[in-house]
Amino acid sequence: MATRRQRPCLVCGTLTRNPSRCDAHQQQWQQQQDRTRGSAHQRGYTQAWRTTAAAAVRQHKAEHGDWCPGWQVPAHASSDLTGDHITPKAHGGTDDPGNIQVLCRGCNARKHAR
Ligand SMILES: [Zn+2]
Ligand SMILES: [Zn+2]
Repeated sequence: MATRRQRPCLVCGTLTRNPSRCDAHQQQWQQQQDRTRGSAHQRGYTQAWRTTAAAAVRQHKAEHGDWCPGWQVPAHASSDLTGDHITPKAHGGTDDPGNIQVLCRGCNARKHAR
């Protein structure tokens, strides 16, 4: 009676403790969301990374305000800041807070357009 109620997955009907989808379909759905929303380089980003990156941006704003350090351009004011990997995951980078660089979206896009 104390056990949490299980619900059928919206996709396959398998009973799950997740709110709406079984683990496999939850993951698939999340990837689909990422694909429709984000650019190619955002594919494969985990929720944990998003949380870490958001925390890095919050901390950056607390320390520096709405200020982008700049990527190949001088530092400039910007409130459109975003967290990015210093060493890309494709090159062995981790989701550690130490591997996060805060840049505005413009600089971030320029960096990835190389
Ligand atoms: Zn399912
Ligand atoms: Zn910038």
